[in-house]
Amino acid sequence: MAPAAWAGAVRYRFSFPEPEHHWMLVEATFTGLPAGPVELHMSRSSPGRYALHEFAKNVYGLTVVDGAGHALTAAALDPSAWTIAGHDGTVKATYRVFGDRIDGTYLAVDRTHAHINMPAVILWARGFDLEPTEVVFVRPAGLAWQVASQLMPTGDPLVFTAPNLQYLMDSPSEFGTITWRTIRAADLPGATPDDKRVFRLAIHHAGSDADADTLTDGVRKVLVAERNVFGDFPVYEPGTYTFLIDYLPWANGDGMEHRNSTVITSRGPIAANPSGKLETIAHEFFHCWNVERIRPATLEPFAFDRANMSGELWLAEGVTSYYNTLILARAGVTPLAGFAQSAGRYAEAVMTSPATKLRSAEDMSRLAPFVDAAAAIDRTNWGNTFISYYTFGGALGLGFDLAIREHTGGRASLDDFMRAMWKAHGLPGGSRPGYVDHPYAVADIRARLAEVTGDRAFADDLITRFVEGHDVMDYPRLFGLAGLVMRRARPGGASLGPVAFDRGASSLRIVAPTRVGSAAYSAGLDMDDEITKIGDESVSKVDDLEAALKRHKPGDRVMIAFVRRGHPESVETTLQEDGDLEVVPVEATGGAPTDAQKAFRAAWIGQ
Ligand SMILES: [Zn+2]
Repeated sequence: MAPAAWAGAVRYRFSFPEPEHHWMLVEATFTGLPAGPVELHMSRSSPGRYALHEFAKNVYGLTVVDGAGHALTAAALDPSAWTIAGHDGTVKATYRVFGDRIDGTYLAVDRTHAHINMPAVILWARGFDLEPTEVVFVRPAGLAWQVASQLMPTGDPLVFTAPNLQYLMDSPSEFGTITWRTIRAADLPGATPDDKRVFRLAIHHAGSDADADTLTDGVRKVLVAERNVFGDFPVYEPGTYTFLIDYLPWANGDGMEHRNSTVITSRGPIAANPSGKLETIAHEFFHCWNVERIRPATLEPFAFDRANMSGELWLAEGVTSYYNTLILARAGVTPLAGFAQSAGRYAEAVMTSPATKLRSAEDMSRLAPFVDAAAAIDRTNWGNTFISYYTFGGALGLGFDLAIREHTGGRASLDDFMRAMWKAHGLPGGSRPGYVDHPYAVADIRARLAEVTGDRAFADDLITRFVEGHDVMDYPRLFGLAGLVMRRARPGGASLGPVAFDRGASSLRIVAPTRVGSAAYSAGLDMDDEITKIGDESVSKVDDLEAALKRHKPGDRVMIAFVRRGHPESVETTLQEDGDLEVVPVEATGGAPTDAQKAFRAAWIGQ
């Protein structure tokens, strides 16, 4: 049965004549166009992904006709855009898109599904951002595929609508054979019985129904722990929030947040690393508040024809990472020691990297277009000049949480800050679905921190020194508040510093620039040098090197023989003490937490 005639201005029809050949057919129809040429664009970026991706490269066979079916010329404007002149108010573009990558950014089509990220497949008309859109999915012959999406449902299970282009682009869709699970908000502990919101898991996997149930139980715990941070779930415009999950051996590991859904992909089955899978789910779900609704002004609205740059990704992504670690501890999935280890890694990265002297957390955030799934053929020096805003922001979330608890004597925490951001910037919503009317700027972060701590100077200090500046928080002391001890992981161990080798290679070749300040760097060693001897010992594997270093101590002078560009050379250097750090509960050091430390832990992680 044909769907009823569409009265709106934009309509997409997705069909899959040969899914085994990994392409889909898109028919995009724009009606009611004003006189004059219209520009059709393929996107160059995708919401939540910051590098340019040039989706036009997989588009081919483009033909354009007018409302009467007369052929029109698509004149290339740039590699991703075409100008269509001489139309009669209607333009219908038909084209194929190739795609075979399962993740949060691209298109994948095969006999089991079409995994669709909208920016990767749809051609959009400039100036039609606010037009409502219809999306029609056509099943391949003989396949009983279903659609999972945050798109608005209609009476036809294969026909959906989007209120505008921003919402459409934010609505990835899984079209295939789906294992469904649902969680009603009303059934969760602490819920009101009339809560109508429904969480849906749309799982495409090779596992069992019991695996899907196990995953659903874990998701339920995450939902409760995250709701408790903010006080309530957001209003999901379709009435549902959907986890689009592809756990397939041919998938790529990823997680991508959207307003009312998330795409979660992994190579491994549910049964492999279940807590790691829940951590990704906790991260992406936290985004339905933080970044989707508590949104930096730098990302609102998202641009599809250029890179989006934001100095606030340390908060949008990094603090979300801190929370995915914290939430799993609060949900009882991660024990205290595991939580301490993960939290310690955030702090260690910031404490030991030379990059903090070069760039602030804001600066790191603005580099996202160069590092977020970005492809480059030239080498980079990120190891010395960059700390991921996930890690840096994770460390800031951790440090801020501990510092706020300390400064307020436990009256406030980072949860109160997130809740204040939610009330001021997220909860008021937007006048159009998919838009955020009160996005925040750094001044708002300062103001909310001042509100929850009652101390403007303290709040300003946190931002000025640790976000905009180059100071590093006093993590060892802050961990101590909770009876956690930050210490050297291998005290007394001799080291060249954090040197990157290819562990599978047959020689000990350095594969990334050496760390500024390390013994290897001071000795003049760098990328592509092949270390052959430490003192008198020949080394050709990482294990050999580690064994040789164990026979030395920090401060020892040793000769290092190496091959550079085919020539044998040698250099003398002074070995350092291994700088790796770890964080452990005080109990693991033979001590015991004080009553104050126990109370701090209970309030912080509930353990
Ligand atoms: Zn994220």
